[in-house]
This record gives sequence, structure tokens and C-alpha cells, in this order.
Amino acid sequence: MKILKDKTAIITGATRGIGRGIAETFAKQGANVLFTYSSSLDLAKEIEKDLSSEGVVVRGYKSDASSFEDCQKLVEEISQEFEVIDILINNAGITRDNLLMRMQEDDFDKVIEVNLKSVFNMTKAIQRTMLKQRFGSIINMSSVVGVKGNAGQSNYAASKAGIIGFSKSIALELGSRNIRCNVIAPGFIETEMTDVLDEKVVQEWRDSIPLKRGGTPFDIANTCVWLGSDMSSYITGQTIHVNGGLLT
Ligand code: NAD
Repeated sequence: MKILKDKTAIITGATRGIGRGIAETFAKQGANVLFTYSSSLDLAKEIEKDLSSEGVVVRGYKSDASSFEDCQKLVEEISQEFEVIDILINNAGITRDNLLMRMQEDDFDKVIEVNLKSVFNMTKAIQRTMLKQRFGSIINMSSVVGVKGNAGQSNYAASKAGIIGFSKSIALELGSRNIRCNVIAPGFIETEMTDVLDEKVVQEWRDSIPLKRGGTPFDIANTCVWLGSDMSSYITGQTIHVNGGLLT
């Protein structure tokens, strides 16, 4: 049985890493996948082609999640073809790590814009569609760092903690219309974002995780399937920690 059969999902930043894992898993579970990318047209085309073989509609859209205007245009364009949007996953994110002493104003602003303002932009843009249809599941990607903080990531931690407060508020605002809004706080997930880290540091992290491994994009994608599906129909305003027991 395909858990997301006939559902349509928008996923931001899905040409690699966790977003790509979500796109693949959603297509396999029967969902139409509408994903955004910031620059990699070739990759987007490849994903469209690969995932279409699952018998679902797959479309890539070039759209900057940190731009209010881009998000408005994106949802307008999508609405012309798709009347119903069941699921929105705000996944796009960046890091610009540094100790506060060395962090530039632009490092702070950029991370807040791409990680946090993007969630406002996309939620605001999809609101009308979901209010009209009287259902929807919004899933926002936070981080263990947004819950517990991390030295050298004050900008990232602030953006990810902000997502939790924003999501809880949206859950309260839109709950009466059967629109749910939840957060996933991944722990250490091994993707292109973490590939840049020193292997010794990565091994130390793995060793410190109770399940003794980094997570995979599919660990996060499966949680998105559950939060996007009717199996979680009474869950809203929650932060689901997917971290191998890192934070207990
Ligand atoms: P990644 O760098 O591999 O992928 C991020 C994606 O977002 C890329 O496809 C990138 O092109 C896209 N993106 C960046 N800026 C964008 C913009 N302005 N508009 C549209 N798309 C944009 O990272 P990942 O590891 O797959 O992380 C995905 C999400 O999960 C991020 O929000 C990240 O903060 C979060 N997260 C990751 C980890 C981890 O360990 N990998 C842990 C916790 C949270």
C-alpha cells in the first residue's frame, strides 16, 4: 500500500541531501512531488525524470525560498496546475558557521533569511490554498542545534529555534481549519552539508550517538511520510526529534 497515494507535496531545496531523500521517498509512496531548487537545473531535470518512473507527477521549480516574491510566484504557478496541495515541507537551509567574535552581520542575516524567513514566505504563500481546501500538513525542518544550541552556530541555532516558535504559533492559528504544522529536529544526518566536515570529527559524533551512527536522509524522509499522511492526523504543534537518541 502506498501511504501518500494521490497526495501532492511541495518540498523546498530537494536536489540533494535530506530534501532529495524526501522527494524520492514521497514519490515511492505515491505522492506527486513539486520541488524547488536554487541553481542546479541539470540535477532538477534528472530528479524529474528518475522519480516520474514511480507513476507520479514530479516537477522542479527554480525558486529562492528566502525571497518573498519568488515564493508567491511559485505557489501561483503551482496553483494553476494543482488545485490541492496536501503537504508543504520547508526543508531548504544553509549554514555559515563561525564564533560570534568572527561572525559577520551578513552571515547572520543570510542564515536567518534562508532558514527562517523562507518558512514564513512559503507558509504565507500556501496559506490561502490550504484554508480553502480545509486541510493541510506543514512540516518544517529545524535541528537539534535549534533545541540545544551549539558553539559556532549561533546564527543557525537562532534560525532553527525560530522555526519551532513559528510552527507552534501556526499550529494554533490554523488548527481549527484542520491544517497541521509540525517540526522535525534532525540530529546528525550524513549529507552533502556534513561531507565538508573532518572525518575524525564525524566519527566522534557517530560514537557519541546512542544508536552509534549518523542518520540518513531516509530516516528524516520516513518521519515526513508519517507527518504528511493521515496516520498523524491528531498531531500538530509538535517537534519530532529524529536523532538516534542524541538528545534525550
Ligand atoms: P544540503 O545542503 O545538502 O541541502 C540543502 C538544500 O537546500 C540544497 O538542495 C540547497 O540547494 C537548498 N537551498 C539552499 N538555499 C536555498 C534557497 N535560498 N532556496 C531554495 N533552496 C535552497 O543540506 P541537508 O543536510 O540536506 O539539510 C536539509 C535541511 O535539514 C536544512 O534545513 C538543514 O538545516 C536541516 N538539517 C540538517 C542536518 C544534517 O545533519 N544534515 C541536521 C539538522 C537539520
